[in-house]
Amino acid sequence: MILTGKNYIAGSLSSNGRTTFKGINPSDATELETTFYEATIDETNEAALKAHEAFAIYRKKSGEEKALFLDAIADEILNLGDELITYCSAESGLPIGRITGERGRTMGQLKLFATVLREGSWVDARIDPALPDRQPLPRADIRYMQKPLGAVGVFGASNFPLAFSVAGGDTASALASGCPVVVKGHPSHPGTCEMIAMAINKAAEKTGMPKGVFSMVHGSIEVGMAIVNHPHIKAIGFTGSTKGGIAIFQAANNRDEPIPVYSEMGSTNPVFILPEALKARSEEIAKGLTNSVTLGTGQFCTNPGLVFLNNDENLQNFQKLTAKHFEEAEAGVMLNKGIKSAFDNGIESLASNKLDVKLVAKGKFSSEGFKGSAHLFETTAKSFISKDYFEEENFGPSTISVVADSKEELLTSAKKMKGHLTATLFGTENDLNNYTDLIDVLEQKVGRLIINDFPTGVEVCHAMVHGGPFPATTNSRSTSVGTAAIHRFTRPVCYQNFPENLLPDELKTDNPLGIMRLFNGDYKR
Ligand code: NAP
Repeated sequence: MILTGKNYIAGSLSSNGRTTFKGINPSDATELETTFYEATIDETNEAALKAHEAFAIYRKKSGEEKALFLDAIADEILNLGDELITYCSAESGLPIGRITGERGRTMGQLKLFATVLREGSWVDARIDPALPDRQPLPRADIRYMQKPLGAVGVFGASNFPLAFSVAGGDTASALASGCPVVVKGHPSHPGTCEMIAMAINKAAEKTGMPKGVFSMVHGSIEVGMAIVNHPHIKAIGFTGSTKGGIAIFQAANNRDEPIPVYSEMGSTNPVFILPEALKARSEEIAKGLTNSVTLGTGQFCTNPGLVFLNNDENLQNFQKLTAKHFEEAEAGVMLNKGIKSAFDNGIESLASNKLDVKLVAKGKFSSEGFKGSAHLFETTAKSFISKDYFEEENFGPSTISVVADSKEELLTSAKKMKGHLTATLFGTENDLNNYTDLIDVLEQKVGRLIINDFPTGVEVCHAMVHGGPFPATTNSRSTSVGTAAIHRFTRPVCYQNFPENLLPDELKTDNPLGIMRLFNGDYKR
């Protein structure tokens, strides 16, 4: 496969810009061959305009037509073969096995959205038939359903070059809802972005979609902001750093027409190990915690970055076991130079003895490429309660144990917390019954509560919530993983007194699509 390094604008290749860059292999810090062209602002505007024009056609496609498109994207991704896997692994430093799994996940989520479109009930149809004889006033015929918003801008993250990138969850949910997509390619894996863009273009051609339904532009902050500020862009899906997510959110709110921004950002995912579980399962939890913290060199937004423990007679043994596992952990490749240096700075500042934290254990070191070592720190709940910096994500293989002298300190710590993606409790049945007040507090702080399992590993399914209150995201009312994500890119439209022939099929009285609807207050098909 020959990579062109060009931008994919509504089915055509374009490279009008003068600024170029190359991908870097983070395993050995060497440049990869292809030269990529950053898009100009004109090219970016063209992508947004074409997406807007395509919306007029794409929004009218049936569920089956959109499902065929999503299935075809998944098939075309598979058709890219091993070349996608090896190139993506070279650009990201992520192992072949991980990338192969992520390809399956990416295809799986596209196909899952296709099943949702075929079933059809996702549009949340509601029908309140007319009541002409109602006293004192008659009721009009009122019908409601979700409709797509318009062209969506998508920003992927470096740590999921497939599942949270060009054809990742944001693109899949936007296309499923009926919205064309303009993706800002991630500079950490530009070749992977191009391969996936090729796959989407082929799928669009094969299934007769309008050309502007998909575009992908390379570029830096200016290109990203041109997407966010374009009047034809009606929503943004972003996965990445807190700094980037907030900058995009603020820019979108400052537009003449503000638009919704779903920024999924960092999180430290607190884990609480309750007393009986700590006593009974020290070794198992210590090993599991180390694996979860070091998985993918800690580069997961669900990485457990804070571990709360009671200061009882089992604490020292648990810390000793965990320290041993951390010391044995190999250094792992980090995604890029920026992420590696941000991690090193974070570690340096935690280890500097200026922050009420002590270093408990350090994993193996390697100076090769951009490699990061595991780090285990410890602080007290008193410090956690009085200082603000512990909840800041240090993206990479590190975690902080927070030792509490009482249950009260654990509860106060939880109450003080900002929003996170997840919170985890390890406990026996007895523990959990004794800590229902803690669960109650955590429910208000996170998008996903987990019992006796680690937060890394996010299932793509109908019931998943990958989101949470700020600063985990800029909108806690949704999810970026799972099929509920489709509603981020829709809005409800109400049809009052419409004749049958002008109603969308989803709202016609005889229910030709056979979908589940709220009819006069009762759910039925
Ligand atoms: P990133 O540096 O924020 O980059 C994400 C994308 O946004 C890139 O295309 C980047 O382009 C662009 N961008 C960043 N700042 C921007 C700005 N001010 N204006 C316009 N565009 C901007 O994030 P990353 O390094 O790829 O990802 C790592 C982070 O993502 C971690 O913090 C991790 O926790 C988080 N993450 C969160 C989730 C989740 O679901 N919550 C999932 C995965 C990762 P340039 O690089 O060209 O600037």
